[in-house]
Amino acid sequence: MNIYIEFCYLAASILFVFGLKGLTHPDSARRGMLLAAAGMTTLAGHPPADAAAWVLVLIGLAAGGGVGAVIARRVPMTAMPERTALSHAFGALAAALVGIAEYANHGARMGELKVGALGFEIMLGCLTFTGSLIAFGKLYGAIKGMPITFKGQNVFNMTLLAVMIGCFLYLLYDASAALAFYIMMTLAFCFGVLLVIPIGAADMPVVMSLLNSYAGLAAAATGFVLGNNVLIIAGTLDGFSGFILSVLMCRAMNRSMKNVLFGAFGAVSETAVGAATGTMREVSLEDVATQLAYAKQVVFVPGYGMATAQAQYAVRELANLLEGRGVGVKFGIHPVAGRMPGHMNVLLAEANVPYSLLYEMDQINPDLPQTDVAVVIGANDVVNPDARDNPRSPIAGMPIIEVDRAKSVVVLKRGKGKGFSGLENPLFFKPVTGMLYGDAKSSLTSLAQAVQEV
Ligand code: NAP
Repeated sequence: MNIYIEFCYLAASILFVFGLKGLTHPDSARRGMLLAAAGMTTLAGHPPADAAAWVLVLIGLAAGGGVGAVIARRVPMTAMPERTALSHAFGALAAALVGIAEYANHGARMGELKVGALGFEIMLGCLTFTGSLIAFGKLYGAIKGMPITFKGQNVFNMTLLAVMIGCFLYLLYDASAALAFYIMMTLAFCFGVLLVIPIGAADMPVVMSLLNSYAGLAAAATGFVLGNNVLIIAGTLDGFSGFILSVLMCRAMNRSMKNVLFGAFGAVSETAVGAATGTMREVSLEDVATQLAYAKQVVFVPGYGMATAQAQYAVRELANLLEGRGVGVKFGIHPVAGRMPGHMNVLLAEANVPYSLLYEMDQINPDLPQTDVAVVIGANDVVNPDARDNPRSPIAGMPIIEVDRAKSVVVLKRGKGKGFSGLENPLFFKPVTGMLYGDAKSSLTSLAQAVQEV
């Protein structure tokens, strides 16, 4: 039986690795998800101890699978960040609950190594649970999105952290000290809240990916406590991939992890240095339709506004029409456009825009000088030339899609609203740029009609 179980664990681990590999490209992402899910199913090959345990496992599978299926059907793509925050919260809670049950059953008899792993599991699991719930609240709008700070916050947090670690060290010395265990657990729940409230809502994707990494490490620690190899492997894969993703997101914004976690970015938005001035040139729908209809090459650059407007179907429609007229169409995708990694790819895939039309930032930038019209759809920061040209700008150094190098730029946005960074965008004041005001979805729908009439 042992060999059979070990074989299931090995198969699951291999499937997880191939699943992760699949997630590295939109083309193979769906297959990657299926492989990872197959890996989880393989784990069910581990036979429960007795009939009662079987019943519990089946109830768990049905309840978890049922809730997952409802969420997958009901939650729209734009609410994916909130959904992800909730699933991290529950994953971390599951790891913490296993640890609490393990301590209640065997705590007093545990050796140092096991108590050490258990301590990590409880601290990371509990703080990830509450931290992810706060992240969910901020993204959903149930909690104020601005950073919540108070006087002496850092000292308070550090003291709480020190007491929590003190309890953990005491447990290493005396595993039967149940009071130390439960104080450590309670403080970890509190620490999760304190860790996330000072961070602005817009930085939640980075925070969530970091919390995901903690949840993975908590699962790996659970593996050590239970002596379960596959949990160690899956938890470590999860932990490190989450960490790498957080680092990549920070790099794409040209910000340090410290700045994201402690910089209260959403609160310092008005610190623009050398803000752009001048007048914005408004263009008419007919003018833009004519430009598009007679262009050789058009590049669409979507951003957060496309997601809020749910304009992905309308842009696909317009792209089809243009292609039908012989216009070359491409989509330029910035790695942090929107509010979560892959946000634009997911929305455009939902609208069946072929992957072959999607170009990453480094691929599309050399094409822009030969582009007749660059159409910016609700993007702002990711096309802000100040990041490239103004070393005093707070976003200086952030790589951008250089739409201002195109022969003509059309920006679709509702009004004079700023982007996530809160900075003015000099692109909107350049002579090459025309502003087409309105909700992105209705502008694109009207453009499609107007192009047909050209
Ligand atoms: P953005 O800078 O947030 O700008 C979005 C623009 O869309 C706004 O200027 C807004 O202007 C417009 N807009 C909003 N609703 C609209 C609608 N219904 N129709 C048309 N326009 C609409 O977006 P971005 O250029 O995509 O940049 C993303 C930002 O998020 C970056 O600063 C990035 O660093 C940050 N971020 C991203 C991630 C990630 O993983 N993707 C993670 C953390 C932070 P109006 O109000 O005038 O319409």
